[in-house]
Parts: sequence; structure tokens; C-alpha cells
Amino acid sequence: METTNSIPERFGCRVFHDDVMKARLPKSVYESIMRTIATGREIDPTIADVVASAMKDWAIEQGATHFTHWFQPLTGVTAEKHDAFISPVSRSRVIMEFSGKELIKGEPDASSFPSGGLRATFEARGYTAWDPASFAFVKDGSLYIPTAFCSYTGEALDTKTPLIRSMDALSRHAVRVLRLFGDKTTDRVNTTVGAEQEYFLIDKKDYDARRDLLFTGRTLFGAPAPKGQQLDDHYFGPLKTRVSRFMAELDRELWDLGILAKTKHNEVAPSQHELAPIYATVNLAIDQNLLTMETMKRVAERHGMVCLLHEKPFAGVNGSGKHNNWSISTDSGKNLLKPGKTPAENTQFLLFLAAVVKAVDDYQDLLRLSVASASNDHRLGANEAPPAIVSMFIGDDLKGVVDSIVAGEEHHASARSVMNLHIPSIPTFAKDTTDRNRTSPFAFTGNKFEFRMVGSSQNVAMPNIVLNTAVAESLRQFADELEGKENFEVAVRELIRRTFTEHKRIIFNGNGYSPEWEAEAARRGLLNLRTAVEAFPCLTAEKNVRLFTEHGVMSRAELTSRREILFENYEKILNIEACTMIDMAMKDYIPAVNRYIAEVAEVINAKSAVPGTSHRMEDAVISRLSSLCEQAFDLTENLKAEAAGAASEADIEKSAVAFKDRVIPVMEELRRAVDAMEEYTAAAYWPVPTYGQLTFSVQ
Ligand code: ADP
Ligand code: MG
Repeated sequence: METTNSIPERFGCRVFHDDVMKARLPKSVYESIMRTIATGREIDPTIADVVASAMKDWAIEQGATHFTHWFQPLTGVTAEKHDAFISPVSRSRVIMEFSGKELIKGEPDASSFPSGGLRATFEARGYTAWDPASFAFVKDGSLYIPTAFCSYTGEALDTKTPLIRSMDALSRHAVRVLRLFGDKTTDRVNTTVGAEQEYFLIDKKDYDARRDLLFTGRTLFGAPAPKGQQLDDHYFGPLKTRVSRFMAELDRELWDLGILAKTKHNEVAPSQHELAPIYATVNLAIDQNLLTMETMKRVAERHGMVCLLHEKPFAGVNGSGKHNNWSISTDSGKNLLKPGKTPAENTQFLLFLAAVVKAVDDYQDLLRLSVASASNDHRLGANEAPPAIVSMFIGDDLKGVVDSIVAGEEHHASARSVMNLHIPSIPTFAKDTTDRNRTSPFAFTGNKFEFRMVGSSQNVAMPNIVLNTAVAESLRQFADELEGKENFEVAVRELIRRTFTEHKRIIFNGNGYSPEWEAEAARRGLLNLRTAVEAFPCLTAEKNVRLFTEHGVMSRAELTSRREILFENYEKILNIEACTMIDMAMKDYIPAVNRYIAEVAEVINAKSAVPGTSHRMEDAVISRLSSLCEQAFDLTENLKAEAAGAASEADIEKSAVAFKDRVIPVMEELRRAVDAMEEYTAAAYWPVPTYGQLTFSVQ
């Protein structure tokens, strides 16, 4: 293990990256691997043994004793199974071994991973296959090999497989379009992603005292603290000492893993923070985001804290999202969504912009679906996160360009507005072509799009699979239409004009939180899928099955299975939440309140002994609390019945709908009753840490 403290020297020291490969592999093998990474083509199996052996030697130097294929099943978290490198050579001696076969392919038992009916339990075999485009790394004594995971019959059981297929689809059609503009050299177009990660940090002691956090990742009860985020004093505020130490250690761990952790700051809600990395190619960016989330949790524990990644740990204050910054660039690093100084003249940029506009409009439902979950339902549509309606913000400058194209007018770009701060030491600089719009779910931010509906805890594969495939489809249609046209210039302008005209309804630069927008969006015919359960079915809508199958991203069977898993997961989460509420109400809250009532009753007794003393207040408190306890008890019984009823539906989709329509309202009522008790109960009797303690105790 490296011991230097120099950040440039340490960076990526636990990663089997480019430079390590170059130094340790024969030239021809190294070049073959690099070709595989650049083109996305299959690895040459004859070099696998050489790579495996070099990887093993390097990993052992880093302190590794085991290796694991690391994959992303449909559970939403990552999976790993560790094998030691040891291999016996006699009864008393072992050597460290790792073969090309073990590197390229693993065979974990797949029977306990969700497959949505794809893999009957009698066919338990699953395969993991190395993704050479995402680097292997050493962590906690194991060599981690990023892999794709599929069933014995070849269906994807993970998120990485369709992601890689979607990258190929986008690249294929983007290269076709680039050829039309005379680009003869680009072989591959990649999507780049920077995932900004929001999270909460709370004290481990407080966490351990709340079963709702333990079982569900969020608080199911809790009256608001006197202070929440009203003063906006947390956003970008100075870092508390404990938090700052945590962040410093987190950065170092991430840098060792070759993750470009760049920006860190406090977020809007008390005890909420954010980390933003520098962007990377999408499959690597996703692996790194998953590693970042894991590392956050691990480092927090070391500092006596717990990192909450749930979308809504606390009611009444902001939840956490993950801004998915997304762009497309060529293999030589040219960003295809960079407008340049005069966007109106940049036909190629406008065509790629049109492709995204069309994709977002045509597949609004899929984008909404890609972020749909029980936990993200608490954010989307609430007044802090983008609404559940998908629309695009492109800024005033570009809107002007698009409007004039649609109207068939010349666009007179105003001389770029210059921002002058009137401070002599700061030079004037050109204003960003886009101002910030915090309320748009999908915003153009200069040279990339920022998809903001994504939830903090989710694997961002699905949003990117949808984006890549939908844009691939726009580009396919464009290339089909333009290839072979005699007058390309005229044809492309006409295509851009037609595309903007047909899809301009999806562009909205105004306030996405306003009620007027909801009405306006309805007039424009935009979808408003308010809840996850309403969004899930669109995965297998005929137009979407066609999209995914035609681009070879997911088969009908894979889509059907994923739809089932989404519903199943939703149902399970709600069932656990309902059971946890029942448990806490009966075992924590009601007994605690009764103990307090008994104390107040003693006060009444004592006061009764003194003639003329009033115990009006004590009577009122007892009567109020006692009636709330009864209410809570009745609601608990009711919740039990509704949850059991919903869970007993034979059809998983009906069951999920029943949880949404019948169970959630009772959960909300039960919460109201318990939160009301909190207001009348003495602090010493309250059985769990309050919102105030949870969100303000980390100093
Ligand atoms: P902003 O100020 O608009 O938030 P930043 O430059 O701070 O923009 O970037 C925010 C996130 O977007 C970072 O994670 C950054 O790496 C990422 N990002 C920047 N450029 C690109 C790009 N071309 N593709 C994908 N992500 C990008
Ligand atoms: Mg951002």
C-alpha cells in the first residue's frame, strides 16, 4: 500500500487503471485492452490470463487476499461474493492464483436476487461478466472487478448490462449523424455523467434509538422542530467540525479509489450536505457513485455518525436528490452539447439539441419512470423538488434561437450580455447563456443537461439508460432522414425546424413549482404521473417496448420482469413501513405517553389534597393525551387490517395500488396522532430522539 501523503501521487492508488496496466502488461496486451475500452467491443479471451495474473500481483501488493466480482442486481444496491486467491499445491502449501477465466466470468447463485419471474428458482445459475471499461480496484483486502450480471439464458438481471447496451446504441447513431457533418474520425461517442450526491449526517446514538430509521431509512413519526430550514442559514454555511473531519476523510478515501470528488458543501436542510464529483463516462460514473454512497456510510460510522441516503428522511424539511448531469462527447473529448458563441449558426449543436428535446418529449413517461420509487414519491411534486411533470429548461438565449427557428425568422443574437461587477480587480466576463432555474426537472446548464428528479439513494443507471436510448432513437430517425439527401444544408435546417415545432411544448423556462404550471402543462398535453405506482406501468407500454427492443437495450421479457420488480419493491417497502409504524406506536409511543399520564395523575392526586388548588391544566393534558392514545390505538388496528388486506392481494400490481390508496392514508393519520402527542408529553418521557435532536446534534 502506498504511504505517501501527496494527493497527486496517491490519487487512484487503489485502482488498476490505465497507467498501472501500461506499466505491468505487455504492450500488445495493453493495447488490446485499451481498444476494448475505447470501442466497447468484447475482450480478446486469449489475453485474459495475462491480465488476470498482472491484476492479482498488483492487488496482492495492495494487501488483497481475495477477489470478488462486483455487480449491480436489481435490488438497488451492489453485490459481492469474495473468493480467496489461495490454491493448494500440496496438503500443507498454497499459492496465490487468479486465472483469466475467473477474471472474465463468475457464476454466483442467482436464485435470491430479484428477477421478476425471469429465472425460475430451479435454474439458479447466473453469470457475471467483467466490464473492462470500468476499472478494478482494491478495497478492504479484496480485488473488486466490476461486472455485468445475467441469467443462464442470457437475460440481464442487473442495471449495468442494459446501460452498456444503451451506450452502444447512442454511439452508433451519433456517429452516423457526425459523418453527415463531415466528421470522418470519430469512432465512438460517449455519454458523460456527473452525479451530485445529497445526504444527511446524524449522530449514531440518535439513529440507534429509532427503529424507523433502522428499518426504513426515514423517520415515520416526528413533530417538526422549532427550527428547521426557515432561516436558510445552513445552505453553504460553515462546516461543523465533525462534518468537516468526515468530509476530509471521505475525500481521501474516494481519491484513493480514483474518484474525482471535487465539491462539498452544506445543503438547505439542517444536517444535509452534498458532494459533487468531476464527471466521467457514464458506466464508470455510475460505479463510482455507488462506491461513493458506500464509502459515505462507512466513513460516517467511523465518526460516530450515520449517513442517510433516503430521499426523505425528515418530513417538513428538504429531501435529498441526485442531480444527474449528462452530456455527450466524442472519443476525442469534444462535447456535442456545447453551443459555442453563436448557437444559431452551429447547426450540429442545434441538431443534437433537437435530438434531446425530441427524446425528452417522446419519452417523458420513461424519464418519470426512471426515477419512480416509494421513497422518491415523498420528494417529487412536493414544494422543494422538481414536480412530477417532465419539462425542459433551456435558458432565454437558446429559447430565443428555438423560437425564431420555429417562426422561420433570422435569429439576431443580441451581443452576448456582459456582466460587469464594477469591481476593478474582477474582469468583466460573458454571462452564462443560461441563468439558473432551480425548479426545472431537466435543465440545460451551458454544455450539459441536469436531470434533477433523480433520487439520492437510487442507482442512476435507469435514468441514463432511458436518456441514452431515447436520444439514440432521435438520432436514428435523423440519420435515416438525412443520409443520402442531396442538399444536406437545406434538409438539416428543415429537420431542425420541424423537430422544434413538434416538440416545443416540452420546453418551459418558468417556475416549475407554481400551480399555474400544472394547469399549463395539462393544456400542453404533458404527462403528470404523480406517484411511482402510476409511473411503473409505462415501462411496458408498446411504444417503449419498441424503443428498447429495436435498440437492443432490453427485451420484452426483461422489461416485463423489471416492471414486476418495481411493483414488488414498492409493495415491500410500504409493508415494512406500515409494520414499523404499528410496532413503534404500540411499543414505544403509547406506553411512554401512558407513563407520563400516570405522573400527571399523581400531580392531580397531590393537588387534590390541598383544598382550593386547581388541576385544570393536568386534567386537560390527561384528557388530550388519553384521547390521542385511543385514536392512535384505533388507527394501529386499522393500519394492521389495511396492510394485511393490501398484502393479501394475489396480483402484485393490485397490491401496490392498495398500499398507495388505502394504507398510506392510514399511515399519515397515525403519524398525525402520534406527532400531536409529542407536543403534550414531557421531554423526559418521550421515547425516541426528536426532530430537533436528530437534525441539530452533530456539531
Ligand atoms: P454547475 O455550476 O452548473 O452545477 P458544475 O461545473 O459545477 O456546474 O458541474 C456540476 C456537475 O456537472 C459536476 O459534477 C460536473 O462534473 C458535471 N459536469 C460538468 N460538465 C459535464 C459534462 N460535460 N458531462 C457531464 N457532467 C458534467
Ligand atoms: Mg447542480
